[in-house]
Amino acid sequence: MTQTPLSEIPKITLMGITNAGKSSLFNRLLGKEETIVSEQPGTTTDPVTRRIELFPIGPVALTDTAGLDDPTLLGEQRSQRSLKELEQTDILLLIVPGDKPPHPQEDLLKAEAAKRGKGLVIALTFADRELHPCRRDWFGSHSHVRINSPQNQGIDKLLKLLEKQSQLLTPEITPLEGLVKEGDLVLLVTPIDLAAPKGRLILPQVETLRDALDRDCAALVVKERELAHFYNQMKTPPALVITDSQAFSKVAADLPEDQPLTSFSLLFARKKGDIEQYIQGMEKLEKIPRDGKILVLEGCSHHKQAEDIGTVKIPRLFRQMIHSQVSFHHARALPEMEELRTYHGVIHCGACMMKRREVSHRLALLEKEGIPVTNYGLFLGWVNGLCPRALLPLQRP
Ligand code: SF4
Repeated sequence: MTQTPLSEIPKITLMGITNAGKSSLFNRLLGKEETIVSEQPGTTTDPVTRRIELFPIGPVALTDTAGLDDPTLLGEQRSQRSLKELEQTDILLLIVPGDKPPHPQEDLLKAEAAKRGKGLVIALTFADRELHPCRRDWFGSHSHVRINSPQNQGIDKLLKLLEKQSQLLTPEITPLEGLVKEGDLVLLVTPIDLAAPKGRLILPQVETLRDALDRDCAALVVKERELAHFYNQMKTPPALVITDSQAFSKVAADLPEDQPLTSFSLLFARKKGDIEQYIQGMEKLEKIPRDGKILVLEGCSHHKQAEDIGTVKIPRLFRQMIHSQVSFHHARALPEMEELRTYHGVIHCGACMMKRREVSHRLALLEKEGIPVTNYGLFLGWVNGLCPRALLPLQRP
C-alpha cells in the first residue's frame, strides 16, 4: 500500500531468443543479480517482474521473459506466447545478439510491436563482436543501440531511448476525471464488513481518495451506517457520492433522488474498459439462451474468499435473476479462439491490476467475435438496482 500499483506504471518487457543477453541486461538495469545468467539455453522459464526506479524514467515494471526460441514449444505455440507477452507490455525491449542473423521470432515481434502501436527499443548485444551483415539494416527506423551489459557499454543511451518511448505513452484516465472540479466535495461510502481487508481500504477506494485530493477537492469518507447522519448536517450537498456497489440500495435510499451517485466499480469500469460496451453487453446477457455458457474472465489470481465474487457470487446471482441452467467457466486469460467462440457472453472482473490497454485488447477481440461482454461493476450495478441512476454521472456530456 506504499507503492504505486503496477497497473499505473509503464511496463517494459525484455524479450529475445535464448542466450541473447536478456537476463544479463535485466540484472544490469536492476543493479543486482536477480535472474540467473547462464550459457545454458532456457534458464529463464516464467516471466519475472520487478518494480524499479529507472533513472531518468521513474518507476517502471521491468519483466524478463523466457527465450522466444524455447525448444519445448512448437512454432505456433511460441508465436502465441510471444504475442501474449507483447500484448501485456507498454514498451518492448527487444534484445538481439548483434553478431547473429535475425531469428524469425524477432522478425515477428518487431512487426507486431509496430502494428499494435507498442513502444519499441532494440538492443543489439555483444557490442564487442562484429555486427552480423544481416543486422546492418534490420532495425529500420526503430530506436536501437549496441550494448555490452557486463562492460556497461551503451546502457546510458538505452535508458534515454526507453525514456523517449515512455513519454509517448498515453496515461490512463483517473477515477474522477471529468466528474468533479477543484473545490468540490466528494463523499465516499466504504462499508467495513467481513470482506474488507484488515486495517486498510481497498485499491479503488484509495485511488479515488487520492484523485480527489490531487484535484483539490475535499473528500469525506463514511461507512453506510453513518451516511444519513453526516449527509443531513451538510449545508451544501457533495458534488458526487461514490459507494461500494453492495451498499447501493441503502445509500440510494438515504440520499435525495437528485444527488449525483455512482459506485467505485463503475468508476473503474470506465477507467479500465468501455462502459458503453459493458452496458450493451449486459442488455444482451439478459437474453442469452437458457442453457447458455458464460466465461468469467479475471485479470489475476487474487486470494479467493468464501463468497468469492467471480466463482460464487456472480454465478449465483446470474442463475437467480436470469437463467438457472447457465453454466459458468473461469479463466485469467482469453482462451484460444476456437474455445472462445463457444461462449454466449463474458463477464470481466474490475481489472484493477490490469492496464487499460490490455483490457481494451480483450474487449476489441470480443466485439470482433460478436460476443457480448459486461463487467463485475455493471453486473452488480444491474443486480443492486444502480442502473440507470449510478450511470448518469458517468454519461454526462
Ligand atoms: S478485479 Fe480482476 S485484476 Fe483486480 S484483483 Fe480482482 S481478479 Fe485481479
